[in-house]
Amino acid sequence: MGSRREESEAESIERLIEAINDALHRVPNKVSIVVENTAGQGKQIGYKFSQIKTVIDGVANKERIGVCLDTAHAFQAGYDLSHKDGLERTLEEFERLIGFDRLKLIHLNDSKTPVGSRVDRHWHIGEGYIGNEGFKNIVNHPELCNFPGIMETPHKKEEDDIKNMSRIESLVVSNSS
Ligand SMILES: [Zn+2]
Repeated sequence: MGSRREESEAESIERLIEAINDALHRVPNKVSIVVENTAGQGKQIGYKFSQIKTVIDGVANKERIGVCLDTAHAFQAGYDLSHKDGLERTLEEFERLIGFDRLKLIHLNDSKTPVGSRVDRHWHIGEGYIGNEGFKNIVNHPELCNFPGIMETPHKKEEDDIKNMSRIESLVVSNSS
């Protein structure tokens, strides 16, 4: 969502709303803008769901604004996705402030830094602080399991992606029964 530089968070969020409205106005088509929650590192804005709500509230054309939920960023911002209770609390707040109808996409990343660190370090699925249990709850949650997911895990060699994809697949519980 951006960085506030020397502005206050409120000023920066107002600037972001203006920019989104301007972009949507200048490009009159059906393409949506999807904003992603941040880790809150440094001067980043958009790390609290309440800030994302403020942005959406300010966008004139509500049909063209959506949200991407980044798991590592949410965790680093203080939403504890490593266990079931934390996931439920996080999703309850997301639903209350933003609404699942706005959610378009999930970025699947584990976190190399602890919950609430506000330090943005993506890590391999299951090997960070969110862990296998956390991702198992995430990918099988009824509100989340049907969304497209994109992994933003570290990529040093081809096998890294295959490893992370296999890990995610191994955590999905078949619901065909
Ligand atoms: Zn992301």
